[in-house]
Amino acid sequence: MQLTNRSKVVSNKVQSFSERIYFPAIISGMAVTFSHLFKKRPTIMYPEQKREMAPIYRGQHVLKRDENGAERCTSCGMCAVACPAEAITMTSGERKKGEEGLYREEKYAKTYEINMLRCIFCGLCEEACPKEAIFLTDRIVDADYERDDFVYGKDKLVEKVDKRIDVTKRQTPEVLAFKKIPGLKHNELYTDKLNKGKH
Ligand code: SF4
Ligand code: SF4
Repeated sequence: MQLTNRSKVVSNKVQSFSERIYFPAIISGMAVTFSHLFKKRPTIMYPEQKREMAPIYRGQHVLKRDENGAERCTSCGMCAVACPAEAITMTSGERKKGEEGLYREEKYAKTYEINMLRCIFCGLCEEACPKEAIFLTDRIVDADYERDDFVYGKDKLVEKVDKRIDVTKRQTPEVLAFKKIPGLKHNELYTDKLNKGKH
């Protein structure tokens, strides 16, 4: 019974002289090789040359600060619950008096870690976050030698005050429209609250 239409009948045909010296086969193989010399090279010479990323490329995460420089993350754990790879862990701390400029909410992430070897860069943490605190960026996670070095803590995740990371291209028109809804309390700045005398 014939299982596929690609099967070939094996023959005991005696090879011709040209087949025995492999010369035509070598010439046709070299022709294929030489034809590639004149084609555009698809190889990207990373890191000197960088591939253009799609605007929604999902690379290394950033923990965002708000407009006043305070960390947005309130350690609610929604990202960790949403993460299918169980790559996120955190511990919570309570904001003390005088730390309002450091942490946006009364509860904050004392430690926050993402294991980049577990992460599959699905972006679910970003979608789950109610505080717009975590975003994936177009940065590539650096290569390293030790597994431990791939567990990124706040030192690597929280953006620097003087070196903000633009994530507007990851905010869909729907999100941007949502942020403009008047009366949105969860996005209100701490200074706004101060001005309104709510604190
Ligand atoms: S991108 Fe996906 S896998 Fe990676 S930390 Fe976020 S939810 Fe987990
Ligand atoms: S990053 Fe967002 S979802 Fe995750 S703990 Fe912080 S506030 Fe919650």
